[in-house]
Amino acid sequence: MSQKKSLFSDAQSRMADIFDRLDVHCDVRRQLEQPKCIHQAAIPVRMDDGSLRVFPGWRVQYDQSRGPGKGGVRFHPNVDADEVTALSFWMVLKCALVNLPFGGAKGGVQVDPKSLSRMELERLSRGYIRAFYDVIGPDRDVPAPDVNTNEIVMGWMVDEYSEISREKVPAIITGKPPEMGGSAGRTAATGRGALLVLETWARRKGKRPEDTTIAVQGFGNAGYHFARLAHEAGYRIVALSDSKGAINTNMALDPEPIWRHKNETRELKGMVYCESSVCTESDVGQISQEALLALDVDVLVLAALENAITTDNVGQVRAGAILEIANGPVTAKADASLAEKKVTVLPDVLANAGGVIVSYLEWVQNRTGDYWSESYINERLADQLVNQAELCFDRADEMDVSYRVAAYLQSVERIVSAIASRGTQQYFIGE
Ligand code: NAD
Repeated sequence: MSQKKSLFSDAQSRMADIFDRLDVHCDVRRQLEQPKCIHQAAIPVRMDDGSLRVFPGWRVQYDQSRGPGKGGVRFHPNVDADEVTALSFWMVLKCALVNLPFGGAKGGVQVDPKSLSRMELERLSRGYIRAFYDVIGPDRDVPAPDVNTNEIVMGWMVDEYSEISREKVPAIITGKPPEMGGSAGRTAATGRGALLVLETWARRKGKRPEDTTIAVQGFGNAGYHFARLAHEAGYRIVALSDSKGAINTNMALDPEPIWRHKNETRELKGMVYCESSVCTESDVGQISQEALLALDVDVLVLAALENAITTDNVGQVRAGAILEIANGPVTAKADASLAEKKVTVLPDVLANAGGVIVSYLEWVQNRTGDYWSESYINERLADQLVNQAELCFDRADEMDVSYRVAAYLQSVERIVSAIASRGTQQYFIGE
């Protein structure tokens, strides 16, 4: 296990409180305290210069009481078994929270994908499937994209699985290109879902988009689609950041041309944004990534990686609310400080669940062979997510608890009944 702070212990510490509140049966508690299975593999990749490198990779299946495992595959230099386990645990909660017939799983490879050529990346993606072929499957465990893995990577993965199986198995992976059975609307689904959660909350609180300023940390896939859709809905995006820099304005940014510019130049530095017309038109300046987290905005959106807000920087947060698109962007201790400061947190398991809902719809389409339009998918996404968000917010209001606690209670209740439906100690001893 790495020297960095254990993400999984942090996740577990939050669960202990939930188990106590629900008086969860010890059978169930034991089953949820550790992952069902951690698979680890060494993935060999022939590099373009002829050398061989071997990358460590994982697939963790945390719990499958409610259905096959579901969860993305992350390519990142800091990935390790602890991180993948924590992420797989959150997938269990997320799928139950929005009432999908899936358990939770997650995958990762410890690699800096930016240091690989496209051909090396293809070999690694195919190698990941060869390594874990026996433990995944449409009814076992269904991978999807996560940080640094996109539609193309999913396409290579589904292709490799189909090559080994000697048959087309589109339902093995979600987030594929549409030409390979991917669903309309999947790429934007996480950002779209996050906006739906924000809007549901804002409606309840009587907040209007035009009066709401937003800063977005992590202008990647999820952050971009969120920012684009929020801008279209009338919210004021005043700051954006990525791993290379951050920009802000006292007017409003239009995320679309900024994203285009970022992709065209393949330069992620904040300063390149200012070469586009957006800067000259709307007075855009550069700030540090840390400064973005401390901006006095209505909503701070965390769409990069875990542990963005910790005890080190929580004191600087001035936002009225935090929307967690990333998984685990606020540590448990920082969460407690935010609660003291009365900062509302719209938790990751709810705010980023749009992606897995549309992944589920993709899986259903692959299995039935009936493909749906983007507008129908978006309608189903909104229906499912808004209903579950309303249930969660109602529970939080009724019990006077945070949205995170309400979300965990909603999930754990469903997981508990799935586990208990197989029998508990009381059942077996005939009590
Ligand atoms: P991505 O790789 O496309 O985007 C991540 C972005 O964060 C990149 O632009 C990167 O430059 C930026 N970033 C990294 N470190 C940063 C820092 N210190 N400051 C500012 N920006 C930084 O990944 P993504 O798919 O958009 O996922 C982002 C987060 O959302 C992850 O935590 C992921 O687990 C979560 N998530 C994504 C999906 C999905 O469908 N994409 C679904 C659920 C959850």
